[in-house]
Amino acid sequence: MDKKIKKIGVLTSGGDSPGMNAAIRAVVRTCAYHGLQCQGIYRGFQGLLEGDFIELGPRSVNNIINKGGTMLKSARCKEFMEKEGREKAYQHLKDANIDALVVIGGDGSFKGATTLHKETNIPIIAIPGTIDNDIFGTTHTLGYDTALNTVVEVIDKIRDTASSHNRLFLVEVMGRDCGHIALNAGIGAGAEEILIPEENLGVERLLESLRRSKESGKSSSIVVISEGGKIGKTVFELKEYVEENLSEYDVRVSVLGHMQRGGAPSCFDRVLASRFGVKAVESLMEGKSNFMVGLRNDQIELVPLEKAIKGSTKVDMELLRVSDIMST
Ligand code: ATP
Repeated sequence: MDKKIKKIGVLTSGGDSPGMNAAIRAVVRTCAYHGLQCQGIYRGFQGLLEGDFIELGPRSVNNIINKGGTMLKSARCKEFMEKEGREKAYQHLKDANIDALVVIGGDGSFKGATTLHKETNIPIIAIPGTIDNDIFGTTHTLGYDTALNTVVEVIDKIRDTASSHNRLFLVEVMGRDCGHIALNAGIGAGAEEILIPEENLGVERLLESLRRSKESGKSSSIVVISEGGKIGKTVFELKEYVEENLSEYDVRVSVLGHMQRGGAPSCFDRVLASRFGVKAVESLMEGKSNFMVGLRNDQIELVPLEKAIKGSTKVDMELLRVSDIMST
């Protein structure tokens, strides 16, 4: 391997997601394994702008593989959107003799990373870390599997109340632009209906489906709704509409919110983070740059960062059919 790179910086940016710590650990330990130095950068691009760095060795990342959030903290940084801000950040990288960067975050962070690379030529590899699973070029982003398990666990609990009181629960989950969480967690939790941004089911079809569900003898119903669902009503407006039109239903709303982002990463996310971290560092050592590491056909591959930013992910619409059949 070409060992021109001596020191790698690592940062987490945008929304935190479970598995980010495991990815930091993997980057730090892969650096140590190959005799490279590693510098942690606090609070994403904000810390880069301020030169807020910390030397990380293999023992600095003990006991973090099982922790949610990110030990390096995360932030959103407006100043980094401006060229002057990025110039300041680059100066700090040069001052600290950092030769290359690993950026862990979502597509906004990738835009910042690729712009910095183009302006300064600093080698960068990105690791997709977001619970939404909305990054092109990888079947899984870090944190997505954990979020799915969290949502399923919570809906299982909601189901206990729903069935004890013959209630209908509208459960809103994260996913502004894509329905991966709603669709997969919905099927996993046995939801009667799933509303995702990719398909406008329409309120009338939802009412019809709930009517059928009641007639078929079901004692409770769960409808899982992506926060970006296109039904044209907020989840609270939907509750009122359903109660007005289906008086037999006692409706409750549960907005799961930020709990979906937290918690210990699943085993899947820990393994994925470890594989992503190794690939990111070794790719930089091989002279690769401006790529994202992604999971495809159970292999870790490099995806051009531009493609990861511009491409869009698609939910498997066959899953909607599976959900329909399962709610019979
Ligand atoms: P999440 O998926 O959780 O939202 P994200 O990485 O997409 O994560 P953003 O807030 O969109 O989160 O972006 C994180 C940071 O990346 C921004 O605060 C900003 O500093 C930087 N960034 C985003 N877009 C750009 C851009 N076009 N140019 C330069 N920097 C950018």
